[in-house]
Order: sequence, then structure tokens, then C-alpha cells
Amino acid sequence: MREEEKFFQNLSSTIRETAKECDLYRKICEKVEYDFDKTLNESNLGDIPYIPWSFFKQSNDKFKELLRGNTFENLEYWMESSSTSGDPSIVGRLKSDIEVLMNSYNRVFTEFSEKEKVKNLILFAPKKRFINKIKHTFYGKNSYLLYKSIVDIWEGKNIHYLLQFFLGRTLWKIITTFKIRAVVAINGKKLESELGRVEKNNIPTIMANSPLWMHKVLNDFYEKRKRTFDMSGHFYIITGGGGWDGVKGRIKMGNKVDKSQFIQQMCTLFNITKDKFCDNFAATESPLAFGAHWSDRYNDFVFHVDKKYGRILARDVNTLEPIKNTGQPGLLELITPYGVKSYAGVAVLLDDIIQVENWNYCPECGREGPIFRVTGRLTPSIGKGCSSLFSLDAYKL
Ligand SMILES: [Zn+2]
Repeated sequence: MREEEKFFQNLSSTIRETAKECDLYRKICEKVEYDFDKTLNESNLGDIPYIPWSFFKQSNDKFKELLRGNTFENLEYWMESSSTSGDPSIVGRLKSDIEVLMNSYNRVFTEFSEKEKVKNLILFAPKKRFINKIKHTFYGKNSYLLYKSIVDIWEGKNIHYLLQFFLGRTLWKIITTFKIRAVVAINGKKLESELGRVEKNNIPTIMANSPLWMHKVLNDFYEKRKRTFDMSGHFYIITGGGGWDGVKGRIKMGNKVDKSQFIQQMCTLFNITKDKFCDNFAATESPLAFGAHWSDRYNDFVFHVDKKYGRILARDVNTLEPIKNTGQPGLLELITPYGVKSYAGVAVLLDDIIQVENWNYCPECGREGPIFRVTGRLTPSIGKGCSSLFSLDAYKL
């Protein structure tokens, strides 16, 4: 009970402080005549003034106004989402907020997978050196993908990066299209040799990143080689960042990934059980992250909300009123007093459509707190072919 009281007290003061330090948020509070002295509890979280996702979009050019106090003066770089196409979300965060964000991701990977125990990692991602090359500039400060800020959580692991930058193909693209565009692709040879090594030596391993790339590349692999691996007992798969709808960041691959089909394929390919999977949900606009295990009951990943760190709401798509029932789709709102010292991120409404399945606990794993499924997106994410930063060709074996 004490913990809960403290959470609501912190929440109240964060709302008050944010309104003091951010004109844009204060105006939103004034518009709804928000009473800062109101005692917050589980039933009135919906009254908290929130920032809609569109405010963070580059095209709206409001992201600088969302910063609190003197964040801009002290800002090293902006964080940019990779989960939207063409029009990313931009968030300014100072070091202390980045630490909270990293802790969230760390906690999820530790609680829902074997992050601490496993030392070998196969990452469907490029090296940080490459990420650092992908940058924009807004108001004279660099902007990098969120990934740059969190990649350090894998420090100390033996990492095999599969996403590579192909200079030859990039030059070809420049010559043929007159546009400077990086060509990144999965290094299939490296993937194959690493999987073989892991199988042969029974090396506990985590394979992580976008389900989209894993699905496509491993499908191609299986079609070509017709072989499976026996990784039973020591192989874990962590997916994240969405991508189930066939669009990842600025990359459109056109193939939708059916979640249960993906699970089935991976189980067959690696001879592993469904408990070896972990999916995570996070948005650039909030420091919260949620872990999920596979659920046979819902035939989907179910995400868990740890009330120590935040709360969620599902808002009716038409009325925007908070939905109290379970099993009803609504827009996801993330609420937290932690990790939002740099910007007005205390309550953020996203365009992700979720469905809360239980407000109190998970009947399958017993964890306390609400559980939800991600069922869609309000604005269908469209990969903008021509303006894509990457063109991704799955590596052909
Ligand atoms: Zn559970």
C-alpha cells in the first residue's frame, strides 16, 4: 500500500512540475482546467492531461516545445523512433532519463528471458558504429535512432551483429538512382555459421530483434538448406519493436508476420518450446517498457504492466474515454512519473491499439498487474518506398 501511495504522490508532483517547466503542457492542463491538488488514484488516471502521439512527430514540429526547463540547452542529441515510417517521433532526453529508459528495457529482458545468464547473443541489428552514421539534425542538434541509446544494455555479451552495411551495393544504388542511400542486409553466411557453432557446442544463446527480419531470413534459410537445429534447452528468442505488420522503421518488407505461425516455425527450426520466447513493447515517447510471454490462451503475446513503474489506459478510439472493461480495443496511454524529467512524457497517448485482458493479474504466469495484447494501429504504418532511408534485401544464401 505504501508503494502505491508513493507512486501516486510522485505522479501528482511530476504533473505539477511538468506544467511549470513546459508551456505547451501547462496550456493543455489549463484548457481542461486540471486541478493539480487532486488526489490521484486508480479510478481517475484518465483525468491526467496527456500528450497525443502526433505532438512528437517530426512533421508537427512541436517536439522542441515538449522539452522541460533547460533540457534543450543541455541536450546532446535527440532520440528518434524507428517504428514509424517517413515521419518519426522525436524526443529529447537528458542522461538521467536515458538511464531510466535503459533500466526499463533491461528489466524486461531479465524478467521475461534469460538475459543475465546467457552470454552469447545473435543480434539482427547493425553495429553501433553504423547506427551513428544514421542521423538527422534538428535545431542544430543531432538526432539518432533510439537504438543508439539502448544498445549498451548488451555490453559484456559476445555479440554477433547480422545487419551489415554493403558499400558495393550502396555505390550501385547511388549510381542507379542518384540518391545516397545505405544498403543494409542480413549477413546470411555469418548467421549460418554462428547457428552451427551454437548447436555443436550447446552454447546458451539469445537471438534478438525485429521478428520481421528473423522471419524472412530464417524462412529463406530453411527453404534453401532444408535443415533444422537442435537447440533445445539453451536457445532463447527475444523479439521487439513491433514489425509484425510487415513494416519496420523505414523499411517495408511487404510480408506480414503471423505471430503464431512465427512461433511455430521457430519452434520447429530450433527444436525449442514456446516458453523460450519473449516479446517486448516500448514506444520512443515514453520510458516504460513491457515484457510478454507467449500465451496459448490468447494465441498471442501478452504484455505485463509492473505497477511499480507505471500505469496504462486504453481509450476508446472514438470518444477517447478510458475503457474500464477487458477484451475491448482502445488506444494505449502510458503514464509514469519516472524518467520524464527532460520532457512532457508523464502521460502519452499512442496510436497503438491494445486490448486489456485482465486488469489485476496474469492467469497464466501469476504476475500481478494488468495484462494486454497489441492488436493494431490507428494509422496503418506505410513504408514509404522511395523516401526510405534503407532498402533492405534479405540476404540470399
Ligand atoms: Zn503472464
